[in-house]
Amino acid sequence: MEVTTTVDDVRTEFRAFLADAWDPDITVAQWWERFGDSGWAAPTWPEEWFGKGLGRDAVSIVNEELRAAGAVGAPSGLGMLLAGPTILTHGTDEQKVRYLRPIVTGREGWCQLFSEPGAGSDLASLQTKAERDGDEWVINGQKVWTSGGQVAELGMLLARTDPDAPKHKGISYFAFPMNQPGVEVRPLREMTGRALFSEVFFDDARVRDDAIIGGESNGWLVANTTLANERAGLGSGGGGAGGAAFPGHKAGMLEVRVGELAERTSRSGVQPANFGRAFELLRTIADKVGRTDDPIIRQRLAELYTMNELGRFTGLRIKSALASGRGPGPEANTAKLMMSSICRLVRDLGPEIIGPDGMIVGSDTTGGGVVQELTLFAPAPSIYGGSDEIQRNIIGERVLGLPKEPGPDKSTPFRELKVGTQSGD
Ligand SMILES: Cc1cc2nc3c(=O)[nH]c(=O)nc-3n(C[C@H](O)[C@H](O)[C@H](O)COP(=O)(O)OP(=O)(O)OC[C@H]3O[C@@H](n4cnc5c(N)ncnc54)[C@H](O)[C@@H]3O)c2cc1C
Repeated sequence: MEVTTTVDDVRTEFRAFLADAWDPDITVAQWWERFGDSGWAAPTWPEEWFGKGLGRDAVSIVNEELRAAGAVGAPSGLGMLLAGPTILTHGTDEQKVRYLRPIVTGREGWCQLFSEPGAGSDLASLQTKAERDGDEWVINGQKVWTSGGQVAELGMLLARTDPDAPKHKGISYFAFPMNQPGVEVRPLREMTGRALFSEVFFDDARVRDDAIIGGESNGWLVANTTLANERAGLGSGGGGAGGAAFPGHKAGMLEVRVGELAERTSRSGVQPANFGRAFELLRTIADKVGRTDDPIIRQRLAELYTMNELGRFTGLRIKSALASGRGPGPEANTAKLMMSSICRLVRDLGPEIIGPDGMIVGSDTTGGGVVQELTLFAPAPSIYGGSDEIQRNIIGERVLGLPKEPGPDKSTPFRELKVGTQSGD
């Protein structure tokens, strides 16, 4: 295939693909198969692994063209955002064959089985254990805050395979099958009224040895690739591009007519909890309710616009760092902190604009209920993907060179630690 190099080439080539392949009358499954197999669903992935080998600018171009054509984007969720890039970096060729195509074609959805009741910020204290049984591992323990756990076919599971090793060294990273008798998923309801995440219990659940990504007891390194991608994605507004739906059979979107899904997305307008586009939303609502003459509202809208622009520039610095071969660095931490500040401003400004309607929820309230949704979801981004305090610790220690937090010796076997009392890393 001819190598595409310029922005114009990419746009022209993708438009030609869309003109040929987009058909609102096929199912979501059929569309994602065409889209995923073409390499355009993950244009930054290598050509031999379902991508196009292009720079990150290609993602923005593809999303612009999808929006212009009213077409549905790549499968959303953690497969595209986290599992795919992690398997590309650490997986064997057999694992790339097994897992990557179902991600880009939306056949399998993924969840992230990292956090536990006693291991969030201090993730390396995790206690879910994996014990070898022939060429399988038996899993026992509990995860919590598992986004999309109810609808995922696979999970990025961190489990302790060697309790005699120091806490960061005895962890393995499994591609874990969720559909099995030893797995119980219990949805957790948030104050938004939705149940986006869940608790997951493992009772003698099983996973094959060849599903370990990156080698036995090497899971901490692999998990850090996942977390770096998470921070970079969340700092840039996160949440998946192109207004697409959640992949996999359990999510129930695959057999829907893809044109119907596109219509639903455009009808609903701004995506719930999409803080990246909140300025446009709040300015439009302020216009409608006649509040754009209020000097305080104007000032705060200008503040939101400025913060969004600063966030966008930091996003561009991340892109250029990635393009020049440096991984996402401190820019990702500052971008994520900036996103938390944007969320807090939106939380305060939105209800101020819509007035008493901010106290009730529902699509018949001013703004269609999106302001209330953003307000109630606002605390979440400053917690997930590493809380604000943890981002500041990382900046303090790794960027400013401040002393590390005191904690037990790094070589202490996990078994000898009093879990839950150590400081984070
Ligand atoms: C909406 C949402 C979705 C999520 N989705 C997932 C998911 O899909 N998969 C998954 O595995 N997890 C998920 N999480 C969990 C998330 O990663 C954790 O909540 C987060 O890492 C914080 O851990 P914790 O809740 O255990 O809080 P803790 O770690 O107990 O922290 C409590 C408080 O103490 C502060 N703190 C902790 N340690 C330090 C320190 N060393 N220095 C200074 N302050 C500190 C924290 O900043 C926080 O304010 C999700 C969380 C949310 C809110």
